[in-house]
Amino acid sequence: AKQVGRNGVQFYSEELAAKARQQSRIEEQLKSALSRSDFELHYQPVVDMHTAQLTGVEALLRWPNSHVGPDLFVPIAEATGQIARLGEWVICEACRQHKEWCERGLPPIPIAVNVSAVQFRHDDFAEQFASLLEDEEVGMGALQVELTETALMENLDRAIDVLRRLQEMGIKISLDDFGTGYSSLNYLSRLPINKIKVDKSFVQRIEHDSASRAITEAVIALGRTLKLEVIAEGIESESALSYLRSHGCSHAQGYHVCKPLSGEVFEEWYRAREG
Ligand code: C2E
Ligand code: CA
Ligand code: CA
Ligand code: CA
Repeated sequence: AKQVGRNGVQFYSEELAAKARQQSRIEEQLKSALSRSDFELHYQPVVDMHTAQLTGVEALLRWPNSHVGPDLFVPIAEATGQIARLGEWVICEACRQHKEWCERGLPPIPIAVNVSAVQFRHDDFAEQFASLLEDEEVGMGALQVELTETALMENLDRAIDVLRRLQEMGIKISLDDFGTGYSSLNYLSRLPINKIKVDKSFVQRIEHDSASRAITEAVIALGRTLKLEVIAEGIESESALSYLRSHGCSHAQGYHVCKPLSGEVFEEWYRAREG
């Protein structure tokens, strides 16, 4: 890279360097945020497509004193190993919130937490997860687990074993971002899971793109054949909602139903809705 400015290679390496600087800055900030538990969970409702009843919420991590979302900082936490502590905080905070809602008179609302491939890779993941729930004194139905295909495909036989242990303890499992990974029929039928989530990239294109409709319909049909709940995520319009409902999708999540809310605002939403 001799010519400065007009040289593509040099420009590219400057971008890479800027990215590396940003990553190490975020790593440092994560470190102090972790020591102060400077995070929050927001909760996005999941409802039954037909009755509109709330069936649970998904916990989504927020870092209020930064301007970065989990799509950016979770991969950094994974690369540095910080995800272990962060993931443990998420599980404990979700347990705490579950108990708080119960104490305030809400019914027990299952909270699904996102589990990174790096957390899932740990030998005793199932036992660690269960023992955190025991320490927090909530039942095994309080929390559920969302995992991506990529996390499971790293070692399929082991994944099946871990998922089975979770299910035997009464913990429900969703396969997240379905359709974006390997999605082989053969492996899906072997997985002990309860739900699949149709990735929002397909759901958001339902109205515009016949390929996305075809994939969405295939995923719904597959889920029904395997007797799994099928949750469509990222529903942003009434027309997408009714399309999905008429094609046999069982559960709905997305801004059109409700945005992710703080624990407090979720409680208001719930009370207003239940009358
Ligand atoms: P995800 O698990 O696929 O979560 C769904 C994302 O879609 C969330 O983004 C949610 O806020 C967003 N969303 C929900 N409804 C709509 C909608 O109608 N339209 C659009 N455009 N988006 C919608 P968020 O909260 O920024 O999270 C991004 C990703 O970060 C998550 O994707 C998940 O992979 C990861 N993540 C979030 N929280 C955690 C966590 O506690 N642990 C781990 N390991 N990963 C997390
Ligand atoms: Ca998820
Ligand atoms: Ca997802
Ligand atoms: Ca995603």
